[in-house]
Amino acid sequence: MALVVQKFGGSSVANTERILNVARIITETYQKGNDVVVVLSAQGDTTDDLIAKGKEINPKASKREMDMLLSTGEQISVALCAMAIEAMGFQAVSLTGWQAGVLTDSNYSAARIKRIRAERIQKELDKKKIVLVTGFQGINKYDDVTTLGRGGSDTSAVALAAALHADLCQIYTDVDGVYTADPRHVAGAKKLDEITFDEMLELASLGAQVLHNRSVEMAKRYNVNMEVLSSLSGKPGTKVKEVVKTMEKTHVSGVAKDKNVARVALIGLEDRPGIAFKIFSILAKENVNVDIILQSIGRDESKDISFTVSQDDMGRAKEVMLANQDVIGYKRVEASDQVAKISIVGAGMANNAGVACKMFEALYSAGINIHMISTSEIKVSVLVDERDAENAVQAIHDRFFNEFGAN
Ligand code: ADP
Ligand code: ASP
Ligand code: MG
Repeated sequence: MALVVQKFGGSSVANTERILNVARIITETYQKGNDVVVVLSAQGDTTDDLIAKGKEINPKASKREMDMLLSTGEQISVALCAMAIEAMGFQAVSLTGWQAGVLTDSNYSAARIKRIRAERIQKELDKKKIVLVTGFQGINKYDDVTTLGRGGSDTSAVALAAALHADLCQIYTDVDGVYTADPRHVAGAKKLDEITFDEMLELASLGAQVLHNRSVEMAKRYNVNMEVLSSLSGKPGTKVKEVVKTMEKTHVSGVAKDKNVARVALIGLEDRPGIAFKIFSILAKENVNVDIILQSIGRDESKDISFTVSQDDMGRAKEVMLANQDVIGYKRVEASDQVAKISIVGAGMANNAGVACKMFEALYSAGINIHMISTSEIKVSVLVDERDAENAVQAIHDRFFNEFGAN
């Protein structure tokens, strides 16, 4: 007998028929003699609808109240699914984040799980019940409801799997697994049988929403046996693990696109020591996270520095730069959110000089201009105009995956 954690995303529980389908998958797993803990997301677009409703009443609604509101979506799902399971003749119990003992910090709307007090879940499992837990939420030290950030139900599932020492954590979604690129937008995207935690973490952090990046971070830390699979097709999914068979081969495992990017450029800075320090310490003090940084070569004692931030932070970054124009000393600041970051990820990349070149060539052939480049051991990212984003992903993907057994 094993303990299995199964998570189902919003589209997997979108309507009554889908809930019944999920209940069938859960009860089949239970009937095989497993203990089953289930984590559910809110149905379909419920979370988006709740956000819109809250903003309509108060565009500046506090994050605490937004969390209170958003957490209700997941409650509906677990209660309905528990009813479906009971109707099929099995015992089930639904629990909210606080009933399940999910303790978080107090960072409303982006809370981190600190600990899981699993006694209640364990008690229910001991009674042979199927336990359904609301995803994406917990409770803080003030007994307030918190949420973990968009897509956070994956992290709830992995955290529960780690806390309960589950044998397997299955993330059921609306595609057959992790693909070489978003299968809904990229022709020829291929399903991967397996992928390493490190590569998956990069892909998720660089825009592949199929998994919440913190869930992968946590799965790696606690060595959770994790797989991504479809709740509809019944096909084998993708195993996410520490080491995969193809690891030694030079390869690129995927292409990701992130549209939540903005570029800020400071033009006409003095070319002398200490300028970068000033700019980025001011941004750090404001809690603005900076991603790619590009500095031009000094010419006539002046230089430019540009950097990327998330779109949410663009306004604030520009504001603080303007407020500190005298201190920093520059001529002009420009900011644009009409950009996107396209990345390739692969473990074997570091030792292959040709990989980045192949990516740039694909963009050149498609007539796409690159604004910024950043590289690491396992990824290359470029910043392009947002209107070029789809074409860029397709061109890069074609180059690596669809030509003469490339890669
Ligand atoms: P869920 O509601 O089940 O959590 P999400 O919408 O959060 O599902 O994530 C699944 C979606 O992720 C897919 O429908 C797909 O469009 C998108 N996606 C983006 N990149 C990838 C990728 N590399 N592999 C698979 N799916 C991806
Ligand atoms: N319902 C939440 C969201 O839409 C959490 C999740 O689905 O993982 O972001
Ligand atoms: Mg998701």
